Amino acid sequence: MQRHDIAIIGAGCAGLTAALYLKRASKDFVLLEKGAPGGKLLTVNEIANYPGFEKVPGFVLAQAIVKSAVDSGVEVTSASVKSVSKAEGGFLVDTDEESHLVKAVLVATGLSNVPSIKGEKALLARGVSYCATCDGPLYRKKDVALIGEGERSLAEALYLSPLANRLLYLTPRKELMGDPGSVATLLSRPNVEIVYEAKALEIKGAGHVESLVYETRGNEKEAAVSAVFPLLGEKSASSFLSPLNLALKNGFVPVDSSLMSAVPGLFAAGDIVSKRLRQAITAAGDGANASAGIIAYLREAKA
Ligand SMILES: Cc1cc2nc3c(=O)[nH]c(=O)nc-3n(C[C@H](O)[C@H](O)[C@H](O)COP(=O)(O)OP(=O)(O)OC[C@H]3O[C@@H](n4cnc5c(N)ncnc54)[C@H](O)[C@@H]3O)c2cc1C
Repeated sequence: MQRHDIAIIGAGCAGLTAALYLKRASKDFVLLEKGAPGGKLLTVNEIANYPGFEKVPGFVLAQAIVKSAVDSGVEVTSASVKSVSKAEGGFLVDTDEESHLVKAVLVATGLSNVPSIKGEKALLARGVSYCATCDGPLYRKKDVALIGEGERSLAEALYLSPLANRLLYLTPRKELMGDPGSVATLLSRPNVEIVYEAKALEIKGAGHVESLVYETRGNEKEAAVSAVFPLLGEKSASSFLSPLNLALKNGFVPVDSSLMSAVPGLFAAGDIVSKRLRQAITAAGDGANASAGIIAYLREAKA
């Protein structure tokens, strides 16, 4: 059993920023990460709205954020958190490696994908992918489908359409949502077919994706495609919080202005927070604010 004042779960933009601030304040914490430090940004093709950077590949921004933290002395512990529960004086954080007894927890675990379409899980990594930026080049000159809505899906479709022979873009909406310039660009691409008010029903294939069955305005159709990018199933990565009986809002953690949840000592930052804008800059801002909230909490609790 390890003992620390604070456990930060997730080394994405939010967790790394919190760790940087807490390190600079000489606080005692463990930063737990189940994958590669840098989080979602590692998979983003291009970031064009992070202050101080012109257009920058996501992994370059991620590496810069990791470097700032590591250069300040932050260490990332490789472990997947399985549960967070109440314990004497704070929380017990159980991982696949070991357990940590801490006084405060910062949850910064972002979003994960939950399969919801028939055949999606079975064909994952066999033509089903949640990251067009990462896997799109595998389907150069092929017919592919993307299911989504909003800015993120638009960005992925804009990346994918010049690579693909044909892009079928399924959206549940009556119109495309997002930046008007991006919408206009996508609509102008001759190899993109937008299907409005669409619902994906099944991804079919023997060993690899071969087709997508969908429904639109009462008609069922089947399109032959080599890959499907289902981007509607993103959910917050929060299942390990269930022992705390925390009331979530659509799976996201409601927090106060110091980023503390309804459970005293449990903080959240980044995409997992119930909020309007999920971006790198807001995740970093949450991380900084949460660090100040945690420091104040520990001081007031005289923990
Ligand atoms: C395709 C795409 C395009 C985007 N474009 C932009 C853009 O142009 N501009 C912009 O600002 N933002 C963009 N974003 C959003 C931005 O990437 C996110 O808002 C930001 O990275 C969220 O950071 P985070 O730290 O909250 O979460 P994440 O970066 O998701 O980090 C969470 C970390 O927690 C870890 N984790 C999860 N569960 C556990 C567990 N149980 N135990 C241990 N570790 C765990 C994960 O492995 C991950 O490393 C885009 C996102 C995507 C997917």
